[in-house]
Amino acid sequence: MKYLDEFRDPEVALRLIEEIKELATRRWVLMEVCGGQTHSIIRNGIDQLLPDAVEMVHGPGCPVCVTPLETIDKALAIAARDDVIFCSFGDMLRVPGSDEDLFQVKGGGGDIRVVYSPLDAVAIAKDNPDKEVVFFGIGFETTAPANAMAVYQASQDGLENFSMLVSHVLVPPAMCAILDSPHNRVQAFLAAGHVCSVMGYEEYYAICQKYKTPIVVTGFEPLDLLQGIKAAVIQLEDGKAEVHNAYQRAVRPEGNLPAREMIADVFAVTDRTWRGIGMIPVSGWKLSDRYRELDASVRFSVEGIQSKESELCHAGEVLQGTLKPDECPAFGKECTPRTPLGALMVSSEGACAAYFHSGRFARAVAL
Ligand code: SF4
Repeated sequence: MKYLDEFRDPEVALRLIEEIKELATRRWVLMEVCGGQTHSIIRNGIDQLLPDAVEMVHGPGCPVCVTPLETIDKALAIAARDDVIFCSFGDMLRVPGSDEDLFQVKGGGGDIRVVYSPLDAVAIAKDNPDKEVVFFGIGFETTAPANAMAVYQASQDGLENFSMLVSHVLVPPAMCAILDSPHNRVQAFLAAGHVCSVMGYEEYYAICQKYKTPIVVTGFEPLDLLQGIKAAVIQLEDGKAEVHNAYQRAVRPEGNLPAREMIADVFAVTDRTWRGIGMIPVSGWKLSDRYRELDASVRFSVEGIQSKESELCHAGEVLQGTLKPDECPAFGKECTPRTPLGALMVSSEGACAAYFHSGRFARAVAL
């Protein structure tokens, strides 16, 4: 397949791995930020082919995984209402709330619909004027343009029965939070190419400078990842800390300006709690005041919800790169894709799901 096969060539991959082996003279810890990159690394065994000197740790870039438990519980409460059609992408349905998940609410009679675009939810709202239609708008900067477009379109159409439960998160503040942590091990980042295709990478210059940490914008195919890892190792070995774009076929420094304008109109920056990590200042987007009447958390009274996490789940440590999924004592035992204790085990971008589906059970230990 053009544009894919050429970035999956095994011979070129092995050559790049040899080059990385020759380059790395001491131990380096690299974090891939994005859950899609994590799955590609684990599925292709890239972390196991790399020399021992280069360790990959997995970052917080799985939007489903970091959506706060309180927000999941709010979604469950809204979705259970008789007057609501609740629309979501499919990977939110198995994410555990405090007591149940959206699948269970659906099984109990909730009208929950899987959609493939937020604009599908707008169309459902047009077709069902006697129902409240709520879209679960989560994600990083990548999904924000489409979510913003849905809010804008609903507003333009004067749809009074459409609203969005918003829980957007932003990558750069999360990178800073990881680097600020006293437990941080990360020495270089592979930045998520799709986030940068929207937002560009100009914001990363200040992070590189402040933390003396290289940031390499990287794609998702094996050769993209290996080229990103190689570029990061070259910088680390040379004592440099710069922004490098290793995904030039998709990313420009300024990103996608029309998309950024749409986002700036619909969303406003806010503090955001990340599931498993805690509150990170100015790390999320909420609906801006102009679209406040389309905010489902305002429209529906879902206050007073008491959320409680599983005490067995170590998602926060996995998301910050201080624990590998197969080092969690519950991995593959109490926690499986059929009996998930945390979102990382069910999301298509979750690191624990990546390890489970690749059969990586060897290291589960008692902490
Ligand atoms: S294996 Fe399960 S319990 Fe352990 S960190 Fe991952 S999601 Fe949480």
